[in-house]
Amino acid sequence: MAGMNWFWKALGGKEGRDQKRSVSLVARAAALEPELKELSDADLVARARDNRDDAPELLACLREVADRAIGMRPFDVQLQGALRLLEGDVVQMATGEGKTLSGALAGAGFALRGERVHSVTVNSYLARRDAEWMGPIFRFLGLTAASVHESDDAEARRAAYASDVVFIAVNELGFDVLRDRCAVSVAERVQQPARVAIIDEADSVLVDEALVPLVLAGSAPGEAPTGRITDIVRRLVKGDDFTVDAGRRNVFLTDTGASRVERLLGIDSLYDEDNVSTTLVQVNVALHARELLRRDVDYIVRDGKVALVDSSRGRIADLQRWPDGLQAAVEAKEGLAVSGGGRVLDTLTIQQLVGRYDITCGMTGTAVAAGDQFREFYGMRVSVVEPNEPCIRDDEPDRIYATGDDAFAAAVEEVIAVHATRRPVLVGTRDVAESERLAETLAERGIDAAVLNAKNDEAEAAVIAEAGAPGRVTVSTQMAGRGTDIRLGGADEEHRDEVVELGGLCVIGVARHRTGRLDGQLRGRAGRQGDPGSSVFFVALDDDMVVEGGAGEELTVTPEADGRIRDARAAAHVDRAQRVTEATMLSIHATTWKYNKLIGDQRAILDDRRERLLTTDLAWRELSGREPERAEEVLSEVPEDVAVGAAREIALHHLDMGWSEHLGDLDDLRESVHLRALAKESPIDEFHRAAISAFKNLAAEAVDEAAKSFRTVAITADGVDLDAEGMGRPSSTWTYMVNDNPLSGGDSVVGSVAAMFR
Ligand code: ADP
Repeated sequence: MAGMNWFWKALGGKEGRDQKRSVSLVARAAALEPELKELSDADLVARARDNRDDAPELLACLREVADRAIGMRPFDVQLQGALRLLEGDVVQMATGEGKTLSGALAGAGFALRGERVHSVTVNSYLARRDAEWMGPIFRFLGLTAASVHESDDAEARRAAYASDVVFIAVNELGFDVLRDRCAVSVAERVQQPARVAIIDEADSVLVDEALVPLVLAGSAPGEAPTGRITDIVRRLVKGDDFTVDAGRRNVFLTDTGASRVERLLGIDSLYDEDNVSTTLVQVNVALHARELLRRDVDYIVRDGKVALVDSSRGRIADLQRWPDGLQAAVEAKEGLAVSGGGRVLDTLTIQQLVGRYDITCGMTGTAVAAGDQFREFYGMRVSVVEPNEPCIRDDEPDRIYATGDDAFAAAVEEVIAVHATRRPVLVGTRDVAESERLAETLAERGIDAAVLNAKNDEAEAAVIAEAGAPGRVTVSTQMAGRGTDIRLGGADEEHRDEVVELGGLCVIGVARHRTGRLDGQLRGRAGRQGDPGSSVFFVALDDDMVVEGGAGEELTVTPEADGRIRDARAAAHVDRAQRVTEATMLSIHATTWKYNKLIGDQRAILDDRRERLLTTDLAWRELSGREPERAEEVLSEVPEDVAVGAAREIALHHLDMGWSEHLGDLDDLRESVHLRALAKESPIDEFHRAAISAFKNLAAEAVDEAAKSFRTVAITADGVDLDAEGMGRPSSTWTYMVNDNPLSGGDSVVGSVAAMFR
């Protein structure tokens, strides 16, 4: 394929050479098959163990083991995939090629080499499914494998993490890191060190979700939200007092608005050193809540509470909250009881999580399109594994229309026309609202579509599995990580012949996504394993992506009566707009990446110190060095181990509190740097300087505070009672993901309408 040749050339041909090498190693593995078939189970396992560093031998043994253990004989392409994974690449394999088995073979290879492996999935349902499905392979080899499910308690998690291969959803993995990172005894922790991560849906996890912060919060009297500021903000006038940018991502206070707020609050200047990181942030947060967060789109109000809607996936997650101030601001806006803040104890992005492993690899159907990001952010290379059967899917050119209404109407007619033949249709939409609008429109026309915006991954997988049955229409938002592949004729392939005859699965996109990669994920659902199938996208020239990405380009075209535009320049315009949008997103990504990198580096330094405090008597040595008299006194009253334990608890408490405050400061800092930097060149440099000096203070202050506590708190034979001293750990903690961090302040694309109609 021309596209791939271009790709290899761009990368100096290394990938191409690797691919050739993989093919030849797999061919050598294939030649060993007859010989291995003769071995007893025990001899086969011994041979695998003895030859774990010899690629052809290892792959040949793993193929035979898979065949005997689960009755699946890996195809050559799956062995190639496993080999590339073992070498640390991101492997591109199309949907339905059997990435699960490739990943498991690589996992077994790593585990045979003595590495503990974390096999990372996009949700708990898949973690459990994969562990059960692939488990016999590991057990056959004398290895252990288990999964962690979101419903598992600490004890179950601890047991699972002791296995050689651990299947776990990425957010659960992150939450366990966060909780372990605040343990005050080694016994409390659940994880065991692991050097290898194998990441399924690698582009989705490592690129799309990489900057999503996972948050550990603890109950504590949070900062009182400001009813007064909410009231004042409610009185501001759009256009005069504040403006909203075209992308609806940012809202800006004007000078008029700022003066008005200052007058109403009775303060001199919002931009004073004193106000800039407190009052100004609160005003902005309240404005953001008022203008940018829409009830029933971004959140719903249920049982007197605000529940977030993840607009791209349509899931409502109970434990999700916005960063504290914003959650409170939305609650205030809705006139609800403002929930008791709580404080953020620690955060972790998936980028930082993945950075903890020495060896990372992954697989996805759409790796090549994210090649730049994999290389730039993770130093990972992409390897393409050709499909087992050549892909014969018919990808039609886009059908382009002047307006969204025209494109939508045309897409609906197409669904109806295809459906009339009983051919199964999968319709891709970009968000929940779009999927519901489409399903409703289809219902009015007598078509009962299955809509995938479930809150239940297991039920969702079952719906997908049936999406290839004759006469089905399935409407979905983003396809990444949606469980199973779509077999023609239904999950049991009962009506396969009929559907093959009809042309296989028909994929219809009602709009192009912001990246070609997401388009590719949708297309890839048709044409699995050499099946027939087709895909087509309906695109509107007034679509946000096309308008923003195409800003500055003149395009003069004449639509036909139904709004359709058959003009090659329009198609080129759409492609270009998508490339511009991708480039903009990449640069936003790169900036956010830098912010997070610094925070991650700081946390790593802190982790080293925390580990030493936790596992040695360092705290005692430091504190008794600072306060020798108090140390002597304590030792005269309690046994040494009690004294050492008390010092440890005190030191950890102050370190953890210091970090929690530091994170809060960094958030405020980032916000205020952004506000102040509108005129300056580089907010990130300013952020770096301030963050580094704050971090230096953090370490020193934590020791000072610990020394102060050591001097004053009561230490008895039972140790130290920090609760009684008002320094207790939070009585409860909870974790959540910030899906769309409105405070991240990403630059948005502001453009003017590019397309002109005559
Ligand atoms: P992917 O994640 O690449 O889309 P899966 O791992 O879900 O694909 O596998 C797709 C389907 O192909 C599964 O139903 C699986 O049972 C089947 N499959 C995979 N590998 C083999 C094999 N070597 N032999 C037979 N069936 C296989």
